[in-house]
Amino acid sequence: MYNAKVLFFTMYLIILFSKTGINETRYSFLVEWYDDLASITRKFCLRYFISNNTVELVELKNGKTFLKRIKCDGVTLKSIYLGSTLNIFSRQMKITDYGDDFTRESFSQVTQRTYGMLKPESVPHLGKILDEIYARGFKVTNAKMCQMSEDNAKEFYKEHEERTFFPTLVRHMSSAPVVALELMGKDAIKSWRREIGPTDVEQAKDEAPNSLRALYGLNKTQNGFHGSDSPESAERELEIFFPSKVPSRRSIPRSTATFENSTCCVILPHVVEEGHLGRIISEFQNSSFEISAMRMFYLNKTDVQEFYEVYEGVIPEHNGMVGQLMSGPSVALEIKHPSCKSQEEIVSKFRLLVGPSDPEIARELRPQSIRAKYGATKVKNAVHCTDLPEDGSLEVEYFFKILE
Ligand code: GDP
Repeated sequence: MYNAKVLFFTMYLIILFSKTGINETRYSFLVEWYDDLASITRKFCLRYFISNNTVELVELKNGKTFLKRIKCDGVTLKSIYLGSTLNIFSRQMKITDYGDDFTRESFSQVTQRTYGMLKPESVPHLGKILDEIYARGFKVTNAKMCQMSEDNAKEFYKEHEERTFFPTLVRHMSSAPVVALELMGKDAIKSWRREIGPTDVEQAKDEAPNSLRALYGLNKTQNGFHGSDSPESAERELEIFFPSKVPSRRSIPRSTATFENSTCCVILPHVVEEGHLGRIISEFQNSSFEISAMRMFYLNKTDVQEFYEVYEGVIPEHNGMVGQLMSGPSVALEIKHPSCKSQEEIVSKFRLLVGPSDPEIARELRPQSIRAKYGATKVKNAVHCTDLPEDGSLEVEYFFKILE
C-alpha cells in the first residue's frame, strides 16, 4: 500500500513537472541593461530554456516578469556566456554573473576566458592567425590592435624586470603594433598555452611543430604570441587591454589608427558569428591592403543609428542594417594600401575588392569580391565599407576616436 502511494506521488510529480517545465534544462544569469530613458542601470535575472531557445527576464528589484518566455532572435546557446552582450528586442543586456550554481558549473569550464596577444612579428599574418584561432576551437570575444608604449610593456612584463632579457623584450613589444585578444573556449587558459607552444621557438619547432610559435615565431624574444599562465594573470592582463573601469590616460595602450589616406571597413556580426573573421581579413591582406587599426565593438542602437544616419529614408534596407549591426560583435578596421597616396584612391580601390552591396548582384558581376563570397542578403552583406572618398577618414574617426 505504502509503495503504491509513493509510486502514485512520484508519477504525479513527473506529470506536474513536465507540464510546468520545471524539469527542463534552464540556465540562469544576472544581466544589466542601461535604460536610457530613465538614466539608470536595471538588473535582471535572465533564464534561458535550452529545449526551444526561449528566454525570460525577471527584474531583480521587484521580482516582476519583465519579458515573458519568448524566442529572441540571436540569443542562442552560442551567444550566451559570462561577459557577452545580448540584443534582446533592441535592448543591449550584458551578462554580469551566473544566476545559480548549476549554470556556473555548466558554463565556467567551457566558456573560460584568457588573454592572448599577437606580438609585432605576427601582426602581418593577422587574418591567417585569426582563422587558425577559430579552427583550434576558440571564440574571439574581444580584439584590439594597439601600440604599447615602453611603460605599457614594462607594466605588462613587470614580473621579468630583473631578467637580463627585460630591456630587449620591452623594446620589442613597444616597437610596433600588437593585437590584443580576449579568447574564450573550453579550459581556454591551458589550451591557449598549449596551442602557442614553448617559449623558445627552436624548442617549439622540435617538440610542437604545429604550435603557433613554431609556425610564426622568429626567435626567443620575437616568439609571436603571448598567453596568460593562470586565471589571475588572465584577469590582470585582460584588464590592461580591455579595462572594465575607466583607466588613467597613460595606462591604455593606444589605438593605431592614422586617419590618413585610409578607408573604413566594418565586418558585420553575422560574419563574426559564422567564424569567418580571419578569412575575410586574410583576403584583405592577400590583396596587399594593410590593416592599420582594428577593434571589436558591441554597438548599441544609438551608435548604429548615428553611423547609418545618411541611409535613413534613402535605402529600404536601413532598418534591417541597423538590426544586423547591433545584433552582436562587429569588427571595425582602418584600411590602407601602399599604392594609394590619396583618400580617393584607397576608398575606390577597396570598394572594388568588397563588391556591389547586393551579394546576389556581386555573385553575377564580381564573383571574386568579398560580398559575393561571404554575403547572404542585402542586409547580411558581410561588410560595410566607406562609400564616398570624403567619408573615409570621418568613418575611421567615428570608430577610433569617438567610440574609443
Ligand atoms: P611565456 O609565458 O612563454 O611568454 O614566457 P615568459 O613569461 O617566461 O617570458 C615572457 C617573454 O619574454 C617570452 O615570451 C619571450 O618573448 C621573452 N623571453 C623569455 N625568456 C627569454 C630568454 O631567455 N631570452 C630572451 N631573449 N627572451 C626571453
